[in-house]
Amino acid sequence: MMRSCAFLLLLLLFQPQKVDIEKLTGQSPNPKNLLEKEVQIAFNLMKEDAAKNGIQISVVSGYRSFKRQTQIWNRKYKKYESQGLEPDAIFDKIVEYSTVPGTSRHHWGTDIDIIDTNANYNGDVLVPSKFHGTGPFCKLKDWMEKNASAHGFELVYTMNDRRTGFKYEPWHYSYVPLSRKRYNNYLKHIDLLSFLRSENIMGMDKISDQRIQRYLEEHIKGVNPLLKN
Ligand SMILES: [Zn+2]
Repeated sequence: MMRSCAFLLLLLLFQPQKVDIEKLTGQSPNPKNLLEKEVQIAFNLMKEDAAKNGIQISVVSGYRSFKRQTQIWNRKYKKYESQGLEPDAIFDKIVEYSTVPGTSRHHWGTDIDIIDTNANYNGDVLVPSKFHGTGPFCKLKDWMEKNASAHGFELVYTMNDRRTGFKYEPWHYSYVPLSRKRYNNYLKHIDLLSFLRSENIMGMDKISDQRIQRYLEEHIKGVNPLLKN
């Protein structure tokens, strides 16, 4: 009896962990748009640490659902369609700055866009120039460069000529211990073509396979190498 119990326990312990596909695509329920718990805990510690240096780290964008990303996508799609652009061209235009629904790292609850609300700023905040030169968020950027890694956070869309896909985003950080797992599971378990074709996203029945495949290679994989493996 004891032996069979121990055997069952072992079986339970070594069961392969089920991958929650909906967590990868932003489709699992999260009505309060919360970050993953361990990410929030790590963020709070980092925030406290930065506050000692007069920096008030604030999240401008954290978790974003598939539904929300689809609203953004459809709005842009309609706009470019009304200008007479072809589906593939519309796709290229939108992914300059926005992600395809179901492919945003913000779906994972591991990624954040941050600013320093102690700084003096006005107008649009997520602008690279505000993080450089005499920009209001330089102090935040310098501090993050020195301290973010120790808290588990890394920049995703780095300033690196060899990186493909999304443009440089000095505000977008990812909590690596968890997002690395999400990234690997994403590549392993999501068949992007069939996923996108099966969802109700504008233009997805017209955009070429090649465009979607290229997006996977250049955009989804076009991140800081520290976030992979
Ligand atoms: Zn972001």
